[in-house]
Amino acid sequence: PRNTTQTCHDCGFVMGKNGTNKLTLKDREWDCPNCHIHHIRDWNASKNILAKGLEKLAKEKA
Ligand SMILES: [Zn+2]
Repeated sequence: PRNTTQTCHDCGFVMGKNGTNKLTLKDREWDCPNCHIHHIRDWNASKNILAKGLEKLAKEKA
């Protein structure tokens, strides 16, 4: 899915919006500029991927 790395799992903010810098491969950890939570990049991305997968499954079942 798109933007799983760039999206804050907690508030949904997408990095690169509102003049913020997109995360690069060097940014292994980052702080969300919107809700100020600290993220480990790969954990945040995997939570987003999991959420999207579950969403998709729920839709397919319905
Ligand atoms: Zn956030």
